[in-house]
Amino acid sequence: MRKINAITGKLERVICNMCGNEVKYIDGVCFSADMLFGYFSRKDGIRHRFDLCEDCYDRMIAEFRIPVEESEETELV
Ligand SMILES: [Zn+2]
Repeated sequence: MRKINAITGKLERVICNMCGNEVKYIDGVCFSADMLFGYFSRKDGIRHRFDLCEDCYDRMIAEFRIPVEESEETELV
């Protein structure tokens, strides 16, 4: 969950939706989802947004029946 300053429009805080802890927002450290469900889904026209800290992300993907595809990038920007 992102807290945006209503006056400046700048990002103030990121809170992990799963554990409620504040996430130090650094691009590439916390997981952010933004899904707009389309026609033929059960959530037609509904948008879901959430953020997860790295620990909660690891717990979530540990539940997957098929592991995530993982590769190593050698050049991080
Ligand atoms: Zn968390």
